[in-house]
Amino acid sequence: MRKKLVYLFGNGKAAGSAGMRDILGGKGANLAEMCRIGLAVPPGFTITTAACVYYLRHGRMVPGLKREVAKGLKFIEKVMGRRFGDPENPLLVSVRSGARASMPGMMDTVLNIGLNDITVEGLARRTNNRRFALDAYRRLIQMFGDVVLKTGREEFEKIWRDVEQDFSRGEIAEGTLEEVVAKFKAIVRDRTQREFPQDPNEQLWLAIEAVFKSWENPRAKEYRRIYSIPDDWGTAVNVQAMVFGNRGATSATGVVFTRDPASGERQLYGEYLANAQGEDIVAGLRTPQPIARLKEDYPEVYQELAKALSRLERHYREMMDVEWTVEEGRLWILQCRSGKRTPRAAVKIATDMVRERLITKAEALSRIGPEILNTLLHKTIAPEAKYTVAARGIPASPGAAKGELVLFSHRAVELTEQGKKVILVRHQTSADDVKGMAKAEGILTAAGGTTSHAAVVARGMGKPAVVGCEAIQVDYERGVIRIAGQELKEGDVLTINGSTGEVIIGAVEMVEPELSGEAIALLEWADDFRKLRVRANADTPEDAQRARHFGAEGIGLCRTEHMFFAQDRVGVMQEMILALDAEGRKKALDKLLPMQREDFVAIFRVMAGLPVTIRTLDPPLHEFLPTDEEQMKLLAEKLGVTFERVLNTVKRLEEVNPMLGFRGCRLGIIHPEITAMQARAIFEAACQVKKEGLKVFPEVMIPLVSDARELAHERRLVEEVAAAVFKEVGVKVAYRVGTMIEVPRAALIADEVAEVADFFSFGTNDLTQLTFAFSRDDYGKFFPDYKRLGVMSEDPFETLDIKGVGGLLQMAVRLGRKVNPRLKIGICGEHGGDPRTIEFCHKLGIDYVSCSPYRLPIARLVAAQSALGKKVERSSD
Ligand code: PEP
Ligand code: MG
Repeated sequence: MRKKLVYLFGNGKAAGSAGMRDILGGKGANLAEMCRIGLAVPPGFTITTAACVYYLRHGRMVPGLKREVAKGLKFIEKVMGRRFGDPENPLLVSVRSGARASMPGMMDTVLNIGLNDITVEGLARRTNNRRFALDAYRRLIQMFGDVVLKTGREEFEKIWRDVEQDFSRGEIAEGTLEEVVAKFKAIVRDRTQREFPQDPNEQLWLAIEAVFKSWENPRAKEYRRIYSIPDDWGTAVNVQAMVFGNRGATSATGVVFTRDPASGERQLYGEYLANAQGEDIVAGLRTPQPIARLKEDYPEVYQELAKALSRLERHYREMMDVEWTVEEGRLWILQCRSGKRTPRAAVKIATDMVRERLITKAEALSRIGPEILNTLLHKTIAPEAKYTVAARGIPASPGAAKGELVLFSHRAVELTEQGKKVILVRHQTSADDVKGMAKAEGILTAAGGTTSHAAVVARGMGKPAVVGCEAIQVDYERGVIRIAGQELKEGDVLTINGSTGEVIIGAVEMVEPELSGEAIALLEWADDFRKLRVRANADTPEDAQRARHFGAEGIGLCRTEHMFFAQDRVGVMQEMILALDAEGRKKALDKLLPMQREDFVAIFRVMAGLPVTIRTLDPPLHEFLPTDEEQMKLLAEKLGVTFERVLNTVKRLEEVNPMLGFRGCRLGIIHPEITAMQARAIFEAACQVKKEGLKVFPEVMIPLVSDARELAHERRLVEEVAAAVFKEVGVKVAYRVGTMIEVPRAALIADEVAEVADFFSFGTNDLTQLTFAFSRDDYGKFFPDYKRLGVMSEDPFETLDIKGVGGLLQMAVRLGRKVNPRLKIGICGEHGGDPRTIEFCHKLGIDYVSCSPYRLPIARLVAAQSALGKKVERSSD
């Protein structure tokens, strides 16, 4: 059977419905739906997207369309009691585009089709308003000329500009509008070598064809590319009886939202213009009135409109954006769609609608995209701000920041102490920069990717960061950076947007973050639905506090090396590394023990009742030593050793591939005194906190294991220390020993590893690095080009590579659980805060995801959405 090409709506009935967006487009589907629920919609019909696709493919109208459109016109004529082309009582129609996905303003529309030299006189007599009729005719010629005949708009606008003021004041001289019409027709004649078409049917078909073609205009194509809308969808075309808001004092037109789209408050929000058409609001010549004025000026219309809007909202169970017109006191609804809103309003509306019993909690959760929560937690660039982007890098930690440029960590500290706000700009950051990073508003680096030091630390701190911004050059010697052909020095102001990767010279206006009571309620509902638990990556008591505030159910990764990088510790650490023998090392470690123990005591107190996973030392030792001679000399002096000894140690520790080198559990195996000190600090702290009456659940995690024997070796040592401490202190604490799965081999032999592990935690940063053989710190050198060339579209350090790395996770879960069905499994790489990865983890059936405290709200939401079966959008959408 041939497919239906035209769907009628009007008079309280419709062939289509809201669920038919694919073939009727959003506008057509909603027009049909509004008719069905009895709203006053001008009658019309929708030509399907399939008819458009046929036209674009074959360059001609699909067979059967003419007949169906003719039938559609008859229907409109019957409902309106007017005839298309009737010299006395002409029907006028609009022809509007309307695709499946909203593409505001991208495609074409023609209004007032059906007017010509004869019908315009009929309209003038019928409405008893010649001024209105001639204005309608000149609008048609102008729009038709521009959209259909491609005359451009400028000449029409030039002529109209001279008349406009007088016209809107109602002071236009006799004969002026006739002159305008004549001039407009002359423009068409001059530009196209033909007369403006007088046959209403010809007008209609040319307009339909033009709207079909407008799917392919460059503007629409670009929009589709940006929003990933498929090119083969095509647009539907809505042909609808015209109603007029410009027929005098009892006519008006307006746009209204059923709730405030900025705050989410439950009150009508919008504006209207008396005696005007929709495009007059857009043109901005007259200032529209707020909708509240309608209540005063036209109370009956207001009541009727409010009733229709409330009906629409209850029917769609959604905040709606509605276009309406009043023609001589009669209200018509012209269009409705779900209203665009700010993130704050989105959360408020969703939670309010649950309380109003319009939607369920599950529906409310499914309406909030992860990025909405993300913007709520960080400062963002004000939506109305205007700025020029000077360079773009990788968006590594969301939120926007502005401040004075500084190139050195110590300058960041000094300047912030003077009350200044700074952006730390480095080629790349290292442990030395952490102090400055902590003080800076945001971080910008020229090198590195989403798991570079700068990115990981910034996310942990909840600070905006843009990394791998190759377009900037950092010249430390001269204390300047080069960006977009300019040289900037310390003190020059920069703005960065860590959500988009944009770098802007100068200050841009921002808006403050907040988690409203509604957002908190929404997250609590999420907790009721989700199966995945959420933990935080936290290295300090302050991080832990923040983690609890955002709902962490434990710490999934405490990177102990971050404690050693602290200013007062790094010296003792260096002393340990420079020690000549185990004895010397032990002496330094004895100094570190109480410091480390105090850290753990504080963290255990904050996390009372919840598990805390502490990882033993992971980075290669050279990271703790200086790289330049000046610093080495200073260190030698400080420790009372020779410069040569420092230099030799640095040289000895140098590696060609440090990421594949002497790090992770290899360190603890070769230097057992390090693991022993850390284990002692953990268990002494745990016993102390337990004695205080608090519950502690320490979990000791061994990094970079590639063979079960490595883990067994470390486990034995940890158990020995635990037993010794418990005996000394006279208190026992239940604990677990487990491992990171971050080396592909560990995933491949996970059954063997599970024999000696109480838990697995996927270190997906290293696992991605080692699976792809992409250096975490250097892949920024080629990856942007990979994207540009279409070799790869997604950054595997940002969202988990489900096919490859995800396959390893799947295998490790299967093998591990085969050996130990109660094996606890989590993920603690940076992917733990990425929506699509969280969805994958839910499907994988692991126990928890661990992410930076600031990502916790998103993790809670997405875990709930995954449990509810909602497809999770990409995090950067
Ligand atoms: C990882 O490799 O995923 C991980 C969490 O450890 P790190 O980032 O400290 O190497
Ligand atoms: Mg790792």
